[in-house]
Amino acid sequence: MSVTAGAASTGIDALRQRDPEVADVLEGEARRQDDSLQLIAAENFTSPAVLAALGSRLANKYAEGYPGARYHGGCEYVDAAERLAVSRAVALFAAEHANVQPHSGSAAVLAAYAALLRPGDTVLAMGLAHGGHLTHGAADNFSGRWFDFVPYGVDAESGLIDEHQVRALAHQHRPKAIVCGSISYPRHIDYAVFREIADEVGAALVVDAAHPIGLVAGGAAPSPVPYADVVCATTHKVLRGPRGGMLLCGDELGARIDRAVFPFTQGGAQMHTIAAKAVAFGEAATPAFAVYAHQVVANARVLAEALSTYGLVIATGGTDTHLVVADPAPLGVDGRVARARLAAAGIVLDTSALPYGDSRGIRFGTAAVTTQGMGRDEMERAAELFAYALRGEEEALAARPQVRELAGRFPPYR
Ligand SMILES: *Cc1c(COP(=O)(O)O)cnc(C)c1O
Repeated sequence: MSVTAGAASTGIDALRQRDPEVADVLEGEARRQDDSLQLIAAENFTSPAVLAALGSRLANKYAEGYPGARYHGGCEYVDAAERLAVSRAVALFAAEHANVQPHSGSAAVLAAYAALLRPGDTVLAMGLAHGGHLTHGAADNFSGRWFDFVPYGVDAESGLIDEHQVRALAHQHRPKAIVCGSISYPRHIDYAVFREIADEVGAALVVDAAHPIGLVAGGAAPSPVPYADVVCATTHKVLRGPRGGMLLCGDELGARIDRAVFPFTQGGAQMHTIAAKAVAFGEAATPAFAVYAHQVVANARVLAEALSTYGLVIATGGTDTHLVVADPAPLGVDGRVARARLAAAGIVLDTSALPYGDSRGIRFGTAAVTTQGMGRDEMERAAELFAYALRGEEEALAARPQVRELAGRFPPYR
């Protein structure tokens, strides 16, 4: 990977001349990304090619509607970009239909609900304390306001999705849709079981695969596409594309999904982002991306295992994916203190709800560090610095130069 490249540096030079204040922000953020460890499970480093499309003149173009049927003139090139993105998504995920216009993962979920539900309908989804996303029924999100969400959860002992509970709640509440997918579930989801339960009660199955979709692309996680009525996804997590969303479904739902995105929930599509999605799908279809996706999971496993030897309690005992949820309580800190100490050490991650704990835990992932080229040795070293920094504020500051050294050996852009 390499991006000192022409376009990007010319861009920042031009910006510095015009607007040094904003240029400082951009350079500060680039330095931050270079000299700390990015362990936020939802983040990654896009390729220079993706960044080039994002920073391109397609950003200037209005394009309401769909290729060949736009409300604006001059769409011949952006139409080609969207057709490429759609055909690459369809091929990559073996789906019949793809919509690449959602501005974000949340916008994709909104459109999926708009296509399948009416306000007031009952929906069964993972509860937020157990790993559901805001769009899965949070009281202060449109989902919780407009639909009647019934939450399911994970088993107190194993931390695994309680399929018996899902089935019982489905039969009891007869939801119009069942949602599976999570912001923090570290294991593969058994989509076949969810399909079965949805069929038993006549519900639609919506899989919100925002997190694992990149692993699916690389063959490192099972695909929800054969089981779901609609798959919602982001393009910026493990998939390593631009910030944005995507929907996959069968042909029979395609037109409804398209109308639910535009004109129901969005206006003009962001064509620079759609071109960048096309680039990312192209990259994700390569053998190198499959190697990457498997390495992401291998790295997460090494990190989880190493941290458990330092005393952290790993939710579900490990991970099948890029993400790990851990309770640092045995080290005498909760998730909030842990996040602050790790930040002081230059290790950046999130706090996380713990389904049955009384404190918060932490959530982290290996998509970004794996893009940087880190492997087993680096994960073991990161775990060592991680555990050391958790001991106290002084230790966190002492770990800072060592974290900088580790990150510095793997520049994301060179
Ligand atoms: C990240 C995520 C989303 C939302 O994506 P945004 O682009 O932040 O709106 C939705 N659902 C799940 C499960 C996610 O992990």
